Amino acid sequence: MSNNKLFSYEKDAKLIVNGIDDESKSILERFYTNYSVSSRPGVCSAIRKIGKFIKKNSFAKLTYKDYSELTNNKTIPVAQLFHIESLFKYLYVYELLNDISGFENCYWNKEKEKSIFEKNIHKNTKHINTNNAKSNSKESLSFEEMEKLFNFYNSVSDDDEENMKLLFFFYAIFYLNMQIEEIRKLTYDQIENGIIITEDNEYELNSRFETFLSKPNTSNIPFGGINDYISKLGKIVGINELFPRKIKNTIERYSIKCPVCQETHLNFVDEWRTINNKIVCLKCYEKLISDNSVKKTK
Ligand SMILES: [Zn+2]
Repeated sequence: MSNNKLFSYEKDAKLIVNGIDDESKSILERFYTNYSVSSRPGVCSAIRKIGKFIKKNSFAKLTYKDYSELTNNKTIPVAQLFHIESLFKYLYVYELLNDISGFENCYWNKEKEKSIFEKNIHKNTKHINTNNAKSNSKESLSFEEMEKLFNFYNSVSDDDEENMKLLFFFYAIFYLNMQIEEIRKLTYDQIENGIIITEDNEYELNSRFETFLSKPNTSNIPFGGINDYISKLGKIVGINELFPRKIKNTIERYSIKCPVCQETHLNFVDEWRTINNKIVCLKCYEKLISDNSVKKTK
């Protein structure tokens, strides 16, 4: 496979927005694919207006205040406002913004809007690359890259505070499947007795991180710095441009649905057992066996 990229952002001057960070470039690259090739330059000049009026180098830092300033800016043509609004909507529904307060005023339905984006992206990329996993390669991690993370995860000693902090972010995104926004907003009073309780969810920490987070001297992880920590982790293990979203997008590829409880678990062998050649999750396996409800045949 010579080229897995959706298209060449870097090589097409008409699509470049100057002064944005790598994560924003990566976001923009996917956002463009929601448009036909011919309309992308027009979208780009609209996005450049954001930089003209709002001096920020990262899309993640855009706020509702920026959104309302831009959409009320009478000097921006209506057609461009439409693209700007669309980018904000994209950032919002894919949870790429650091601060979402205020956006509830827009009444954007995440699932609905996401499915519209996905449909357009699919439509505009299917001719370029029919292999879905490949076309998403820019947005998720390869098996080899994940192995680098797992190896590091397994090799770091529990008392290596600095690296354990980095790993916490990987653990929270990948193993706990926490929302990036949830992690970013985490505070220490939400963590107690090995459980993280957020507004919407509860997460059980494994014993490794339960112990780590209960140590008084580690209670200074700046959770809001998730992007920096993940990027640092990427540099250590040798993955260029590692963002939280890339890890998040990879979870699905490592997930299997249990045919009994219908819950999705990571495809790690120790989370699964086999009954008569079919795999079921460990919990269901134990229940089925103790209930004696399934006969094991040889
Ligand atoms: Zn199950």
